[in-house]
Amino acid sequence: METQQVKAYGTTAVEEPLHEITITRRTVQPHDVEFEILYCGICHSDLHQIKGDFGAFPPPIVPGHEILGRVTAVGAHVKNFKIGDLAGVGCIVDSCGHCEYCEDGIEQFCDEGVTFSFNSPDKISGGHTFGGFSKTYVCNERYVLKMPAFENLAAAAPLLCAGITVYSPLKHWGAGPGKKVGVLGIGGLGHMAIKIAKAMGAEVVVFTTSPSKVEDAKRLGADEAVLSSDAEAMAKYNRKLHFIVDTVSAKHDVNVYLNLLRHDGTVVLVGLPPEPLEIGAFNVVSGRRSFAGSNIGGIAETQEMLDFCFEHNITAESEIINIQDINKAFERLEKGDVKYRFVIDMASLEK
Ligand code: NAP
Ligand code: ZN
Repeated sequence: METQQVKAYGTTAVEEPLHEITITRRTVQPHDVEFEILYCGICHSDLHQIKGDFGAFPPPIVPGHEILGRVTAVGAHVKNFKIGDLAGVGCIVDSCGHCEYCEDGIEQFCDEGVTFSFNSPDKISGGHTFGGFSKTYVCNERYVLKMPAFENLAAAAPLLCAGITVYSPLKHWGAGPGKKVGVLGIGGLGHMAIKIAKAMGAEVVVFTTSPSKVEDAKRLGADEAVLSSDAEAMAKYNRKLHFIVDTVSAKHDVNVYLNLLRHDGTVVLVGLPPEPLEIGAFNVVSGRRSFAGSNIGGIAETQEMLDFCFEHNITAESEIINIQDINKAFERLEKGDVKYRFVIDMASLEK
């Protein structure tokens, strides 16, 4: 297969800071779309991966899976994109396409294993996939999203992971009028969950460890915000919530939140703490409660989420950075020092 050299930012050894490197991508195949990357969001999953939180991955690693750009080339059989169109790629860039999961539009659970946009074995090109901290991306059009004409394109990039990861469980567990939804953790995912749950018509209560985010949560649209270290304030929510989206990236006590659920309520974990979480039997047995998980969302649902967010004028609160500041951004993300998503202006790659 013909390949091309592409400028990127990544690591070439474990625990090495990110720096400019050159990667190899396939050239455009008949069903592929190639696009120049304009913006790429920084998700905590990028940080988990470069830290080896889920096991060391063999370098080079080029993170980035909230990838938004403009189409520069299309293969001969591409039907839905033309040069100059906006295009988005989130977490999924390939799957078998014919198992029951792919046919149901939940490609993230593909029987043969989904291919993620970075750090995933690449079944088409060989080797592994490289993410969006790079000049261009090449992807089969089936996995490329149509980006609506958001006024602030940079702020729309985080929808491609943070947006869909909270939209999917909010929809699945029925966020809407009459439902009291909790959001745990106000980071990239959490702040999107506040906005999306509100737009779905739910009442939103936010739980945060950060005093500075309590007031800010209301600006983001939350009806109520609670500092989780305030036991008295927390107690007011015992058995009050229909479900809770847990976006916390580190080990924490989920039992506290199980006890805030009404009967038949669910805590849905989307955060990926590297360590196992403990659950006390009585916290699920009482009230027939559930502890569940959710993983991104399929391609059709991602498109639905983008159109929903466009219609409701929802984008991420973004801090735009140059790629040269990526290591500092990861340090700040680790400390929770970002309100609420870093987005890289990829034009800076040429500086
Ligand atoms: P983020 O921006 O860093 O937000 C995480 C938030 O969790 C922080 O802002 C903080 O909120 C809270 N937090 C952090 N450490 C905590 C601790 N020790 N105890 C309690 N709260 C803590 O991260 P993100 O990009 O939103 O991602 C969140 C998690 O979701 C990550 O683990 C990421 O890998 C995962 N993720 C999963 C999927 C999926 O499909 N399941 C997709 C994308 C990301 P407060 O300051 O408000 O307390
Ligand atoms: Zn992500």
